[in-house]
Amino acid sequence: MKSYIDIHTHYQGQGTAPDVVNIYSWRIGREAVPPFPFAAGIHPWDASMSANDLFKDVCGCNALAIGEIGLDYSPAHKDNAKIQQDVFYTQLEIASLRGLPVIIHCVKSFSDTMAALRTHCIPISILHGYIGSIQQAEEALRNGCFLAFGPRSLASPKTVEVIRRLPADRMFLETDTNNCDIRDIYARTAEIRSTKTDDLRLTIYNNFKTVFKHYDRMA
Ligand SMILES: [Zn+2]
Repeated sequence: MKSYIDIHTHYQGQGTAPDVVNIYSWRIGREAVPPFPFAAGIHPWDASMSANDLFKDVCGCNALAIGEIGLDYSPAHKDNAKIQQDVFYTQLEIASLRGLPVIIHCVKSFSDTMAALRTHCIPISILHGYIGSIQQAEEALRNGCFLAFGPRSLASPKTVEVIRRLPADRMFLETDTNNCDIRDIYARTAEIRSTKTDDLRLTIYNNFKTVFKHYDRMA
């Protein structure tokens, strides 16, 4: 049986289960390089501290994906929106040059995020911690996004409707900052979609192989 994929976690303690593959989210500038498979990026909350050294890490590290990167226009973070945009766009260009998928943090910034993906010709990306409407999900799919759902997504009624209706071949699941078991998130998602956990597991594993074609070489 194929592995469970936790596409986005900040817990270094995850990954002990043999049937789970975790993609750790390394916050460049905040933490040392992790010793296991990771995505790497300058988080929008860290945009004001970004310096050339941080971009060097984005360019040179052994990452499976660039992320999490993005735009956060929530009241606590929107003051430096312009800096966030510069840092995000630069990293989209790096991802494009390196041929790596992108994992995106998008909070109250949906239309700017979609515009950026189109402008920078990003063919495949993952909107992590998706919370939103069916209409936004449809637009994201048209822009090449996969949607990743975590515990907060499952607590949002309109997002549960997206989870129910999204084509399975555009879906990932994640634990993010929650210290919980990804296998429980698979079970709850399978229940919402009236499918078997094993079928969901196989589909998401295939999604992983589609997006992370380079995984076998690097892990
Ligand atoms: Zn995160």
